[in-house]
Amino acid sequence: MEELVVISGKGGTGKTSVTASLAVLAEDPVIADCDVDAADLHLVLEPHIRESHDFRSGYEAVIRPDDCSGCGICQDLCRFEAVKRHGEVFIVDPIACEGCGVCVHFCPDEAIDFPESLSGQWFVSDTRVGPMVHAKLGVAAENSGKLVSLVRTEAKRVAHEENRKMVIVDGPPGIGCPVIAAITGASQVLVVTEPTVSGEHDLERVLGLAAHFQIPASVCVNKWDINPEMTKRIEDKALALGAELAGRIRYDRDVTRAQIENKAVVEIDAPSAEDIRQLWAKLKFPKPAA
Ligand code: SF4
Ligand code: SF4
Repeated sequence: MEELVVISGKGGTGKTSVTASLAVLAEDPVIADCDVDAADLHLVLEPHIRESHDFRSGYEAVIRPDDCSGCGICQDLCRFEAVKRHGEVFIVDPIACEGCGVCVHFCPDEAIDFPESLSGQWFVSDTRVGPMVHAKLGVAAENSGKLVSLVRTEAKRVAHEENRKMVIVDGPPGIGCPVIAAITGASQVLVVTEPTVSGEHDLERVLGLAAHFQIPASVCVNKWDINPEMTKRIEDKALALGAELAGRIRYDRDVTRAQIENKAVVEIDAPSAEDIRQLWAKLKFPKPAA
């Protein structure tokens, strides 16, 4: 099974738009939206949810007021200032609580519960291009790397069960833990970048990450024509860092039209659609029959 992960190094490069188009061009793919902190692939692919699951991760202290003698030890010990006093009552702020468990351990009255915290939900859905696994991380919830791993694992499970040969992953931006969780063990990464100084800088970092995990990388410059000199510089750097050039995508106002119509760019008559088709043709994956 092939797994293509689309990443960007930074947000706002058009990664998700490109991913949606590749999902349309692929033959019977499973799509995984691993940009769990800011998931928006669903806006284009309009999934119909067929399975919904809770994502539990980490722990959260919860004081039982009836069992609490009000000694204040938990407040004194909490390094994250998560325990608040309201008159005689102590409560834990669930957003501030880091789930370290210190208060639970030292409470003399054993008055603190320590359940797993609900951090979000994940879904298996049907879309017009194939099944999609996606997730919604709760407000201020952490452990997005763990959720990314879960979404990828489930996408591969669905692909296996439905005999689909390819998983296309919309990866998280940046180079942190969620990106590492998104690319480790993938067949290939496609880096979507833009011709700016920050695009060049972040490309260097993300290609370093791909090289570290020995994952073949291709690079595409989105809106390349807004700065052809910088595009050339980025492509030269990508080649020097061992990546392949997958193509260039022109600046195209019709991308906005596609977004307004909840469509992938290749589903409308847009000039840049041809650039994306050429990009797809250059990636080393099975292609749909012409
Ligand atoms: S340590 Fe236990 S008994 Fe003391 S205030 Fe906290 S919850 Fe209440
Ligand atoms: S579990 Fe840790 S972070 Fe949370 S309230 Fe207790 S001491 Fe503070």
